[in-house]
Amino acid sequence: MKIQFLGGAGTVTGSKYLLSIGDKKILVDCGLYQGVKNLRQKNWDKFPVEPSSIDAILLTHAHIDHSGYIPAMRRAGFRGTIFCSSGTFDLCKVLLPNSGYLQEEDARYANKKKFSKHSPALPLYTEEDAIASLRLFKAVSMNKPIAIENDITATFTPVGHILGASAIQIKALGKVITFSGDVGRSKDLVMKPPQPLAATDYLVVESTYGDRKHEVCDSFEYLEKIINETSKRGGVVLIPSFAVGRAQINLHVLQSLKQSKRIPNLPIFLNSPMAISATQIYNSHQKEHLLTPEECQLIDDGTRFIRTPEESIELNASSYPSVIVSASGMASGGRVLHHLKSLVTHHRNSIVFIGYQAPGTRGAALVGGATQIKVHGEYLPVKAAIHHNGSLSAHGDYEEIIDWLKQSNIAPKKVFVTHGERTAADSMRLKLKDGFGWNTCVPEIGDEFEL
Ligand SMILES: [Zn+2]
Repeated sequence: MKIQFLGGAGTVTGSKYLLSIGDKKILVDCGLYQGVKNLRQKNWDKFPVEPSSIDAILLTHAHIDHSGYIPAMRRAGFRGTIFCSSGTFDLCKVLLPNSGYLQEEDARYANKKKFSKHSPALPLYTEEDAIASLRLFKAVSMNKPIAIENDITATFTPVGHILGASAIQIKALGKVITFSGDVGRSKDLVMKPPQPLAATDYLVVESTYGDRKHEVCDSFEYLEKIINETSKRGGVVLIPSFAVGRAQINLHVLQSLKQSKRIPNLPIFLNSPMAISATQIYNSHQKEHLLTPEECQLIDDGTRFIRTPEESIELNASSYPSVIVSASGMASGGRVLHHLKSLVTHHRNSIVFIGYQAPGTRGAALVGGATQIKVHGEYLPVKAAIHHNGSLSAHGDYEEIIDWLKQSNIAPKKVFVTHGERTAADSMRLKLKDGFGWNTCVPEIGDEFEL
């Protein structure tokens, strides 16, 4: 058995781990590179193995940096089965076509502005490619071993993070290897804590927060204070939010505050078609998260879902005071930009960024104290109150991951630390080596190991 790291090594995106087991090839995760241009450019590299030679893809969860390369693989000839949890499958039905649409938009924009080296610029894949790739998916149950190929079995176990997210344990040739996927929080507001792992010979573990600890912050008190202050000023609270996971946490906190009368009875809008779909998917998978049927119902009844562009434009012109949750989470694109444009210039409003804000995004600039911000080519003065709650992350920090591994009570022969920037991954490697005495390494892209 061999493992090769084709992505998600030395960086947090583009997760792709290739297992060669005898004459079978299995890819664990099939993610897009995201972030700075040099990384995104890698999505265009020829895949190092003939896609048609891969027998199956096992998917830990639906985030695009883990699933978003699947339509490109299909386009290049992959026709195997894609195994994942049913929550992951349902989220991929929304996320992958949207990713295809965005790829097409990028190509259209490049052609209009004529900045592509290629004429005409083509999308990496289309919405149609993404829809076609969904036919290859097969949803599996958690905690039940599944036959992937003859004598190769896989077991998916929940790891919090987002709906459907799983660690995957693969057994073949008398050996066991486990992939952590993205590991969630020990105390999340919506997702259950990660389930301890079963015995394994090899472990591939993520290290997004390998060198950082999350701040502790009561998300209820935090939003309660901002909303009460802002509504007294007659302003709007705008919460830029990731569509999957974060949007549902925000709606849960907002509706609970409103129900317990800790904030006034003001309208709460969700303006993001993808976040609306994701919220419905969370509601239809109630056993897989912590929200009760009553809490899901409260979100459904209490939130005004803004679906059409016309409703979105209308919302922009109205309703003070109110709370608007809209994507994207770092204000790098999407409908939130229209709200930002109309709200950022007035002192009565508040803008609340949640979680990590990547360098170069408007979110990072505003949180960093920018006095003006460029939206749709126009510079706007920043007058609104800017807040940042950095504690709400979907990833466990190093302490939470180490506690989870302790609970797992495993003794792997070798541990591969992946899915982290270089210093984070190396810091995690040291902690695992010193804390557990494990044989650890941080693989580079392209590295291959015999297991
Ligand atoms: Zn993720």
